[in-house]
Amino acid sequence: MRIASIDVFAVDLPYSGGVYRLSGGREYRSFDATIVRITADDGTEGWGESTPFGANYVAAHALGVRAGIAEMAPDLLGQDPRLVDRLTDRMDATLTGHLHAKAPLDIACWDLFARSVDMPIHALLGGSTGDIVPIISSIGSGDPDDMRAQVADHRARGYQGHSIKVGAAASDGGPALDAARIEACLADREPGEYFLVDANGGLTPETALRLLRLLPDDADIVLEAPCATWRETLALRRRTNVPIVVDELATDDESVLSAITDDIADGIGLKVSKCGGLTRARRQRDLCRAAGFTMSVQDAWGSEIAFAAVLQLAQTIPEQNLRCALDLRDGSPVATATFDVPVRDGGVRAPDTPGLGVSPDLEVLGAPVASWS
Ligand SMILES: [Mg+2]
Repeated sequence: MRIASIDVFAVDLPYSGGVYRLSGGREYRSFDATIVRITADDGTEGWGESTPFGANYVAAHALGVRAGIAEMAPDLLGQDPRLVDRLTDRMDATLTGHLHAKAPLDIACWDLFARSVDMPIHALLGGSTGDIVPIISSIGSGDPDDMRAQVADHRARGYQGHSIKVGAAASDGGPALDAARIEACLADREPGEYFLVDANGGLTPETALRLLRLLPDDADIVLEAPCATWRETLALRRRTNVPIVVDELATDDESVLSAITDDIADGIGLKVSKCGGLTRARRQRDLCRAAGFTMSVQDAWGSEIAFAAVLQLAQTIPEQNLRCALDLRDGSPVATATFDVPVRDGGVRAPDTPGLGVSPDLEVLGAPVASWS
């Protein structure tokens, strides 16, 4: 099997909730998705997606994804898509860094690899645990009562986990507002539910400690990405017993290793595009499992194709190490593909169909914005 052609599609994904707000005054109304189709010489198609969370979340942006693909695509023509580690080496030799641009190419190769042997990707990643993968909501920061209502809406739709965004500026209310948001979101808590409090790096050790002191001692939360830098996170870590998960700071194999050896956290937000696709995500999964980390498998943003890659990986992580997967389908009314995975009992199961399990909608994708053959 050889790579015969590569096509790139660009799709705008409007946010289903209107305006999504993060710490630092960041606002998002839509997301620019890049979707890749790799066609093999036998006609088999593989698909992948990379959708950055705007341009000011991690060091990734949509135009950079497409520029990076243009650097690497010509060199991938004629290669065997099943040799995923060798293709990763090849992409690294062509373009340093830019993992978010490598991700859709890597995922599309995994899709081809799995289709070539008529198996789902989770089988090639080591095999499904057979367990339901819990899914988690993503609640943008806002008025506490509005956030409480959003949690209730997701609860009614079967979600048992909730990622609630905090990180209010001092001028907006600071730690007191964030504490009110957390208490509102936890107010109707039901047995079995869990809450990630995600600051997306928006707190300092001082504001984080003030926020934690405003919460009840028995508030059962996990603090995600409290601070923007390694030093701040480590300083906070040494002064609180609240579990910490790193996300934006864990960007590659080296930072995941450092998170483990520095004991900076108890878990990680493992985002498939952030780490360059499933080849590296598989490696980071294994490092995290060996370290006893909890993993929240996600992507920065995306549609059905990105969610399929997230779920294929999450399906291989044993229950005690898997916190949740982020259901990216929830974020936009635009569906780029059919991905028939209903939410049941608080979670989902990856399909056993070959490859990613998606059927892209060519009318939604439109004409390719770039092609190589
Ligand atoms: Mg996060």
